[in-house]
Amino acid sequence: MATSTPTKRAAPSSTSQRPAKKGHWSQGLLESMNDPNLIVESDERLVIIKDKYPKARYHFLVIPKINVPNLKALKREQSELLRYMQDQCHLLASKYPHVEFRYGYHAIPSMSQLHLHMISQDFDSPCLKTKRHWNSFNTKYFLDSEGSALLPLSNSRSLCTCLNKRFM
Ligand code: AMP
Repeated sequence: MATSTPTKRAAPSSTSQRPAKKGHWSQGLLESMNDPNLIVESDERLVIIKDKYPKARYHFLVIPKINVPNLKALKREQSELLRYMQDQCHLLASKYPHVEFRYGYHAIPSMSQLHLHMISQDFDSPCLKTKRHWNSFNTKYFLDSEGSALLPLSNSRSLCTCLNKRFM
């Protein structure tokens, strides 16, 4: 498969454009995080759901309950949340000892509300249809949540710098 950097339609709220209206496709995670058919784990801080269009046999999204549109919107005092999301991923992964997972963020997410991908490395799914799908999890477009560029974070400005450097 090709490994060129993919282009992607970005959600309005992840750019400088106006935030998307309620009901816009990019707001779909806000509905799905309350869908009992998709919820795998939930606590007072986050919810883990099954990705509605999984790109591998196991594909989960870890979504905080507080409103944070994306990584760039994360405030310094919220950066510990990323660590917590990561920890909850590991907890869930321990239920699948036979599965190899990767954990990370899309550099330019299409869906609003911060979400961490937890995805098995088989990429065996009928929803994995395009080169862009593959690239989004197998190029620098996919930002490992465990990388030193994301954790530990000192403030949102340093996060933006890290993201920009990693994506360039
Ligand atoms: P991204 O915004 O690029 O990080 O990825 C968004 C992810 O959300 C993709 O893996 C989609 O398959 C998934 N997705 C899109 N719409 C929904 C939805 N309504 N509920 C759950 N997952 C969704």
